Amino acid sequence: MRWVELKAELLAIGSCRLTGVDASGYIESSVAGPGAGGGGSIFFSKGGKRVRLSVSPDSPVEIRHDGDGQVHLGFGNIETTGILEQPALHCPRQAYITVSGQCIFSCRYCPVPLKEGRVKTPEEIAKMIESARDRIDAISLTSGVVGSIEDEEQRVIEVLKRIGRQDIPIGVSIYPTPNTPDLLYSEGVSEVKFNLEAATPGLFAEMCPGLSWDGIIESLDSSVALFGRERVYSNVILGLGETDEEMESCIRLLAERGVIPVIRPLTPAAAVASYRRPSAERLLRIADVHYDALKKAGLDTTKARTMCTYCTGCDIVPGRDFE
Ligand code: SF4
Repeated sequence: MRWVELKAELLAIGSCRLTGVDASGYIESSVAGPGAGGGGSIFFSKGGKRVRLSVSPDSPVEIRHDGDGQVHLGFGNIETTGILEQPALHCPRQAYITVSGQCIFSCRYCPVPLKEGRVKTPEEIAKMIESARDRIDAISLTSGVVGSIEDEEQRVIEVLKRIGRQDIPIGVSIYPTPNTPDLLYSEGVSEVKFNLEAATPGLFAEMCPGLSWDGIIESLDSSVALFGRERVYSNVILGLGETDEEMESCIRLLAERGVIPVIRPLTPAAAVASYRRPSAERLLRIADVHYDALKKAGLDTTKARTMCTYCTGCDIVPGRDFE
């Protein structure tokens, strides 16, 4: 079985059950990303490629830890070996930090507004980065929205001013105002990710009340002009009710603008908890379209230096998970 097929099977389940030798040192409990909160996540890796799975005692995927990170994965008739990777902050090789763990918006798929997460100070974030310095290749920042979008933008700028210029790249993913690309660029940020989240404007309006699809597209366009092609990303969730054709149009719309789409399989939560995760077949079908769109647009995911396209844990990344 090719890695991409194994990864699609695992992403369609999204979780694993840990057995064998205690693996608690490999578990990441983070407030960011899919499966935020819960019982934590692990990063299973094979041949230099990785997948992130949440840890759940009910999962049909068994990962047996034999010690020193060496594992055996069993699921249906799939049997394979690999390793558990040690996360730095949130994911392997990055300090990926959530500035504000709360949000004033209520996107229907997102568990963050339900949480009373903390707002970290610039000082605290600088210390977190220092503590992980010898294990990271990148710093990535994300955030909910506390107060207003403008307040949050300012909060993240203050963090960037505190951590200053670094000798490793910095990526930022926040909800943008029209000024955000310029402000982040002026602070020395290398890459940005502004998430379109839903494949069509109609679905976006339904899923993200109070937010603007057109505003995100405008910020993506101005970011490509500033940061350059292959330095701008956008997450789109697969499984919110869009058709394959709608997802394909969205992928092509982004890629043709020089933006690398990050196609994120839905983790059913919050108001869409009754939805289903996309199947392995659908993930592979969309990955082929994604591959083709990136190739036609001349976008290379291996150049990513921060955030999700560099990590690859939660998504199939054409060009990194398969050639
Ligand atoms: S792909 Fe993104 S959200 Fe998922 S673990 Fe990696 S950095 Fe976090």
